[in-house]
Amino acid sequence: MQHQDLWRALAFLLAGLVLGLLTGAMAWSLLAASVAYITWLHHGLAELLVWLRHRKEHEPPEHPGVFEEVTLEVDYLRERHKKRKKKLASYLKQFQNATRALPDATVVLDVDDEVRWANSAARRDLGICWPEDVGQRITNLVRTPALRAYIEASRGQEGSTIEIEGPMDAERYLSVLTAPYGVDQRILVARDVTQLHMANQIHADFVANVSHELRTPITVFQGYLEMLRDQQNQAPAAWQPALEQMSAHARRMQNLVEELLLLSSLESELRVPQPSTVDIPALISDIHGRARELSGADEHLFSFEIDGSLCLNGARAEIDSAFSNLVFNAVQYTPARGVIRVRWYRDELGAHFAVEDNGIGIAPEHLPRLTERFYRVDPSRARDQRGGGTGLGLAIVKHVLARHGATLDITSTPGKGSCFRADFPSTEIRLRQPAAVEVAHETG
Ligand code: ADP
Repeated sequence: MQHQDLWRALAFLLAGLVLGLLTGAMAWSLLAASVAYITWLHHGLAELLVWLRHRKEHEPPEHPGVFEEVTLEVDYLRERHKKRKKKLASYLKQFQNATRALPDATVVLDVDDEVRWANSAARRDLGICWPEDVGQRITNLVRTPALRAYIEASRGQEGSTIEIEGPMDAERYLSVLTAPYGVDQRILVARDVTQLHMANQIHADFVANVSHELRTPITVFQGYLEMLRDQQNQAPAAWQPALEQMSAHARRMQNLVEELLLLSSLESELRVPQPSTVDIPALISDIHGRARELSGADEHLFSFEIDGSLCLNGARAEIDSAFSNLVFNAVQYTPARGVIRVRWYRDELGAHFAVEDNGIGIAPEHLPRLTERFYRVDPSRARDQRGGGTGLGLAIVKHVLARHGATLDITSTPGKGSCFRADFPSTEIRLRQPAAVEVAHETG
């Protein structure tokens, strides 16, 4: 309490005492003095309250002492708050100007994938408007199924990207990325990659055209070479080794051309155009037969653990090409009588096709580059393998998986073996009766 207030309280008390002495009713006088003091305080508080509520129309209370102090303090705090608000407003303006200038569409999503904020590029590229769409689930707002599937599948696995046709303009291509942001939120960024896409398209078209043009002459060469080899008695004996070699190389070139054409067709569309339910257990059983044939005299030890109920939504020929590539690679890069374990199973994350071998393995520095076209750990060795590796197998696998929303996980230890695992999202799983797990162990 201020001195002034203390003196004022004492003055009221003193007035009560004097009145008590004069009237002889001390208790009543003191009570009257106290009531008068409380009334004075109450009046001061009432004035203060009116001023706080309607500051613009009312003057500050003129009560001296503590009321004056409170009035000054409130004025000071208000002034400080005003300055802070101004500063924040200027920061906000700067931030809005910066995000407006950002060419990439940016959307902040909360834990339920509801829109919290979006910049103006998001309106142009994704059709997401801020503040109108705040609180709406992004999957209800975007029209592209691939983007919807990516947003649902990428929660918890932020960092992966997807390329999609622009939802607002099919002539444009966007590369979309999600990243963790704040507490339980994430940020979605969509960048225009139309130019890059066009350049890749020109490149892919060139490769496809050249491959296509080469296909017929190679088939003709191969046909004549086969004919000459078959008629051994008509060709001079000295030519036989040359014919063998020419045949082997023509076969290799044919494989290369076929795989380049396949790769080009896979690259032309981001998703499988007309997916249908693929009987994966039957497909794996077919691959099993072909793998045994490829293994031949090497007699690899195969083990297949297959969930008989687990099917996929996709393109059969593509999945066949991806899965057989992984199994045939295991055969190629595992010495005779090595063990190859193939598993097809599901868990809470989705469906998985895993091929494990105890073959030559791969050094860690090669792993990130394995799915590049023509990348081989040891090119000289690859040429000696059965059928001649083209170096395109894993690039095909990667594209097929991407078109099915799946990813490839590779782990390997040199000299011990490798594990190639394709992970499919739960959204692509199709189940059928019965949910049995088939296990087959055998020698090749
Ligand atoms: P290739 O036609 O040469 O087999 P791929 O694209 O299928 O081409 O594989 C790329 C490279 O990855 C191979 O050359 C090989 O070095 C390595 N590789 C693939 N699978 C395996 C495996 N199971 N074990 C060891 N190395 C492998």
